[in-house]
Amino acid sequence: MTDQNSGRRNGVTLSSEPVLSLSKGRAVAGAVQYGFQCEECEQAIFPATTRSELAWLRERLHVVREVAKHAQTGLDTWMLEGLEFLERHSGHSVVLVSRAGARPTSA
Ligand SMILES: [Zn+2]
Repeated sequence: MTDQNSGRRNGVTLSSEPVLSLSKGRAVAGAVQYGFQCEECEQAIFPATTRSELAWLRERLHVVREVAKHAQTGLDTWMLEGLEFLERHSGHSVVLVSRAGARPTSA
């Protein structure tokens, strides 16, 4: 008979690590701005958004236009700006352009 007294403790330690808060804020690059430019009118706008969202807007123009009809106040400013620009220059050749944020364009 062996007296085995295995009093091994499984100490559960509660780690008090801080919960990582994932900020879902949109990261707008400060250095480069993206926008639409009409090659025929030589007009351009640079809404405060990313390049991918501008490309998305141009691809989905017909969808965004329908949404804008029903929810005129629910859209972001960049969306309305971009939509208005694309509407005004529909049929023109509008391209996605980029510029350095600090430098004003003189073209
Ligand atoms: Zn135009």
